[in-house]
Amino acid sequence: PALNPSALMGRVIVACRDAIVAQEAYLSDLDRAIGDGDHGINMRRGLDALAAEQHRLAGMPLSEAMSAAGTILVMSIGGAAGPLYGTLLLEIGKGLAANPSAGIAEVFQQAVVAVARRGKSAPGEKTLLDVLYPISDELMNNTRLPLLAGKIQGFADMTIDMKAMRGRASFLGARSVGHMDPGAASCALLCAAICRELAE
Ligand code: ADP
Ligand code: MG
Ligand code: MG
Repeated sequence: PALNPSALMGRVIVACRDAIVAQEAYLSDLDRAIGDGDHGINMRRGLDALAAEQHRLAGMPLSEAMSAAGTILVMSIGGAAGPLYGTLLLEIGKGLAANPSAGIAEVFQQAVVAVARRGKSAPGEKTLLDVLYPISDELMNNTRLPLLAGKIQGFADMTIDMKAMRGRASFLGARSVGHMDPGAASCALLCAAICRELAE
């Protein structure tokens, strides 16, 4: 398998951690409006755990590093989001291992489908899938990373007008309309940070 370009792996992890730390209070505020107010702290725990393991991860082949990172996220984020972010990375690792010459777009797409299966959810239901699916579509269309980075927040913004159909926010029904989904917001922060790092 392709060896993990370890300096880049470390930079991506640190960029993700910094993006979440900077917006931890904001993410919990979003979750306080339509959930239980812990999304910022959950994500902070997850990214701190990844950052603590960054050197071990950077020493692994990329597919193994993605799988190991997924396991770390499942164990550390907790809540509803942990298994979903974990599934995303575990499935990317699986996809890379199964077909080392596959393009990132194909690997990402099948991982996003696995997240939807895990959450029994679909785009349009006001979740992080409303960020993951359009990113997958952009990658399939070969959108360049710097351009994609600039579009990602717009995907999270689209969840403001949606009615939540999954997770705690769904208990609010129509009252969830008018608030950004916290998982979509964290997903946009992370994916934009990753795009910016990889584009450099
Ligand atoms: P919890 O709701 O357990 O407190 P978090 O606050 O960490 O967990 O995460 C909530 C986020 O998880 C939501 O904003 C949403 O984006 C995502 N989510 C919850 N349930 C699902 C689901 N079934 N499918 C997809 N995403 C979901
Ligand atoms: Mg929550
Ligand atoms: Mg919770």
